[in-house]
Amino acid sequence: MGYIEPAPLLDKENPFEAMMSRFRVASQILGLEEEVYNVLKSPARQVIVSLPITMDDSSIKVFEGYRVVHSTILGPSKGGIRYDPHVNLDEVKALAAWMTWKCAVVDIPYGGAKGGITCNPREMSAGEIERLTRAYTSAMIDIFGPDRDIPAPDMGTGPREMAWLMDEYSKTRGMTVNAVVTGKPIVLGGSLGRTEATGRGVMVSALTAMEKMKINPYKATCAVQGFGNVGSWAARLLSERGLIVQAVSDISGAYYNEKGIDFEAAIKYRDANKGSLEGFGGAEKIKGDELLTLSVDVLVPAATEDVITATNAPNIKAKLIVEGANGPTSSKADSILNDKGIVVVPDILANAGGVTVSYFEWVQNRLGYKWEAERVNRRSDRIMKDALNNVYKTSQEYKVSLRIAAYMVAIDKVAKTYKYRGGY
Ligand code: NAD
Repeated sequence: MGYIEPAPLLDKENPFEAMMSRFRVASQILGLEEEVYNVLKSPARQVIVSLPITMDDSSIKVFEGYRVVHSTILGPSKGGIRYDPHVNLDEVKALAAWMTWKCAVVDIPYGGAKGGITCNPREMSAGEIERLTRAYTSAMIDIFGPDRDIPAPDMGTGPREMAWLMDEYSKTRGMTVNAVVTGKPIVLGGSLGRTEATGRGVMVSALTAMEKMKINPYKATCAVQGFGNVGSWAARLLSERGLIVQAVSDISGAYYNEKGIDFEAAIKYRDANKGSLEGFGGAEKIKGDELLTLSVDVLVPAATEDVITATNAPNIKAKLIVEGANGPTSSKADSILNDKGIVVVPDILANAGGVTVSYFEWVQNRLGYKWEAERVNRRSDRIMKDALNNVYKTSQEYKVSLRIAAYMVAIDKVAKTYKYRGGY
C-alpha cells in the first residue's frame, strides 16, 4: 500500500492521530486495498446539534452535542456519551473509530460510535443535566435505536443519564424500549456484572498474558494507576488471584506498600473521602508519576490517556502493561516499549470487558430475560480469553506487537465483512 503516508511517531497526540497512526501500520501489514482503507477510515455519519436549555436561573444556554457513527458494517453501532468541557468533533470521531475496532477484536456484532456534549456537568444541577440529556436524546431520535445505534455511559455520564435517555426515547416511540441504551440501573434492565466488567476484563487479559509469558501470578507484583471504576476493580480482582498490588494512584498522588495495598480499606477510605485517596494511611505516599516506573511485574494504567510517553517509557521496568484506560500510551512510546521487550495488552483489547457486558445487557433486554452474575462473568471471561489468544496468535504469525495485531484482527474482520456485504 504505497499510497498510504508513513505513520508519524507521535508522543502527546490528539486521539484521532493516535488511532490513525496504529490503523495505518496495521492496514499496511495486512496489505489492505486503498479503496477499503478509505472506507474504513471515514466515519459513516457525523451529527452536530445545538441544544438550547433553560437553566435554573431561567436563562437559556445553547450547548453543542455530537454523535459520530464510525461504522455499522458489523451491526448496530455502539459507544458511550461523554459530558465534558473539552468534548469536540475530532475527539468524538477518534473514540467512535476505537469502538469499531474494540467490538471487532472481541468479536461482538456491533459497529462503533461515540457521542458527547460540550458541557461541565460538575457545574450543573441535576435538573439542568436531565433537560440536556432529554434534549440530546430528542435531537438524536433518528440516530439512536436498539437496531441502529446504542449509546452507553462514558466520562461524565452514568446510569442516571442512561435512565433519562431510555425514558425520553421510549416516550417518543410510545412504548418501553430498554435495549436502546446500556449501562442502565439494574431495575431498568441493567446487567449484573456491568460495574466490574471492565476491571474484570483487565484481570482476565493480564492473567492470560502472564500465562503465555510464564509469569506465575502468585506473588507477582503489580501497580495500578487510577482508582476509579476500572482501576479499583482491576486491582481488587488481580489481588484476589494472588498478585501483590504494591501501588495504586489517583489524581491526588500514588500510594505504595511493598507488602500490598489493603483494598477493602482503600475503597472504604475513598468512598468516605469524596472519591479521593488523599490522606490514605495504609501506604507511603509517592509522586503520581513514580508509580509508572516502579519495579513491578505488571503495570495497569487505568486512569487517563497519554501517560506513557517517550519521556518515561525508557524507565518503565514492568514486564507486562495491561491498558485499562483508553489511549494511555503514545505511539512514540510504543516503539520504545517494543524495543525493551515489554509486552503491552492494548486498550482496544484489554478494556473491552465493558462493551462485552454492555452487549450482554442488550441481549438480555431483547430476550426480556435476566442472567445471573455467574453467567455474565463466565461468558465475558471466555470472550476476553479467546480474543487475547487470537490476537496473540496473529502477533506471533506476523511478528508484530499485540497492539498492531489487535488492530489487524479488527480491521481484517471489518474489511472482510464489508467486502461480503458490498457497497454501491
Ligand atoms: P473513573 O472516573 O471512575 O476513574 C478515573 C480514576 O483515574 C480516578 O481515580 C482519578 O482520580 C484517576 N486519575 C485521573 N487522572 C489521573 C492521573 N493523571 N494520574 C493518576 N490518576 C488519575 O474512570 P473509569 O471509568 O475508571 O475510566 C478510567 C479509564 O478507563 C478511562 O480512560 C476510560 O476511558 C477507560 N475505560 C473505562 C471503561 C468503563 O467501563 N468504565 C471501559 C473502557 C475504558
